[in-house]
Amino acid sequence: MVETLHTDIAVVGAGPAGLAAALALAREDARVALIGPAPPLRSQQFLDTRTAALLASSVDMLKALGVFEALLPQAAPLKAIRIIDASGSLLRAPDLEFRASELELEAFGYNIVNSALVEALYARAVATLPQLQPSNVERIEFSPTKAMLSGEDGWRIATRLVVGADGRNSICRKAAGIPASEQRYGKAAIATSFTHRAPHQGVSIELHRRGGSITTVPLADERGSSVIWIDETAEIERVMRLEATGFEHGLQLRLDGVLGQVREVGARAHFPIVRRAAESLVGRRTALVGEAAHILPPIGAQGLNLGLRDAATLADCVSAARKRGGDPGSDDVLNAYDRARKLDVLTRTYGIDLLSRSLLSGFLPLHAARGIVSYGLNVLPPLRRLVMRIGMMPPTELPSLMRPGAHS
Ligand SMILES: Cc1cc2nc3c(=O)[nH]c(=O)nc-3n(C[C@H](O)[C@H](O)[C@H](O)COP(=O)(O)OP(=O)(O)OC[C@H]3O[C@@H](n4cnc5c(N)ncnc54)[C@H](O)[C@@H]3O)c2cc1C
Repeated sequence: MVETLHTDIAVVGAGPAGLAAALALAREDARVALIGPAPPLRSQQFLDTRTAALLASSVDMLKALGVFEALLPQAAPLKAIRIIDASGSLLRAPDLEFRASELELEAFGYNIVNSALVEALYARAVATLPQLQPSNVERIEFSPTKAMLSGEDGWRIATRLVVGADGRNSICRKAAGIPASEQRYGKAAIATSFTHRAPHQGVSIELHRRGGSITTVPLADERGSSVIWIDETAEIERVMRLEATGFEHGLQLRLDGVLGQVREVGARAHFPIVRRAAESLVGRRTALVGEAAHILPPIGAQGLNLGLRDAATLADCVSAARKRGGDPGSDDVLNAYDRARKLDVLTRTYGIDLLSRSLLSGFLPLHAARGIVSYGLNVLPPLRRLVMRIGMMPPTELPSLMRPGAHS
């Protein structure tokens, strides 16, 4: 007979959004179980080549969760963003630079290697969470008062709230019957990192070409950057097949010499560019966070920032219910969470969709519109500051873990 473990909250998925959610929820003294395969260590041959540019509010959350200090040696401050139109279009937009100092900030946030972030969060989860089940959930069944999760080796966990943080192919979303819409762009992105001759000086550089873009983001090494190279799917597949020297040469050409000679290039991986949005962030005894709820094109560095805001907001909603002695998986809690997240998720998902279409399109009138907007932003500092603030702050109040000083 298999023994059933009982818990208040079961977080499914040990990616960055799930780990942050589990740690945030456990601060409220709730019984939290984390379920999902342990992330591979960086010392193993690990292929998450992505980095995450995290905004100041996300960094404040990592500080509050007690993981940022360990990450600091591997985090690079983002001091400026330079946008260059390299499309060769007749209506070329002027270069544009957003500087954090214009908002009287030292940095917009930090760029952190994804695998380092997940490793630090997982170490914290192992040290602080009472229940870890390091395997996949295979089945979820609901009754009016609980959800029953089961998986490999026949383990069973009964919980009042399921937090679905199980990424793009979320079984939590499917089990709760939450539909999702999807948009494909026929494009893909390569994520890798490289060293270069010129120092990056904390500046992220976006070069927009016809139908694609390439963005460098500073790493902790002054002469190292991560890069996201977006193009037609067939072209990305061709570039992925190139030998190391061919790839280096292609990258050098693509970058137009912006960071000087390209030196060593790291492991590469590619990702399809899609936008997927769940119709609701909640279903039967289920709240979705991170990519289980929304996938954004990797333009504008919003994806994980949005996932962390989900995690911090859910912790606030559960905390309010606990103070009233309530059930964390009740409709009241779930509806409050859905309401609190809707506007931020909708505006970011569709905002990034619009930005992606305009940046990745070769359509001349769109180039003209982009040129006019860039010109306006160049000559109007108040408009530039407004755009920076919109990029940094959600349209709704920040959840408590993300407020400056939440960690002190
Ligand atoms: C090229 C690229 C660059 C990006 N750059 C940025 C950036 O600069 N800034 C930013 O904010 N965002 C960025 N993003 C987005 C960011 O990487 C993602 O939002 C983030 O990694 C998603 O985290 P997650 O925890 O939601 O999902 P995942 O990392 O996919 O984690 C899901 C977890 O669930 C587990 N799982 C799956 N199924 C089950 C199951 N049945 N049972 C239990 N566990 C399960 C998996 O093993 C995994 O550990 C980028 C994305 C790409 C593609």
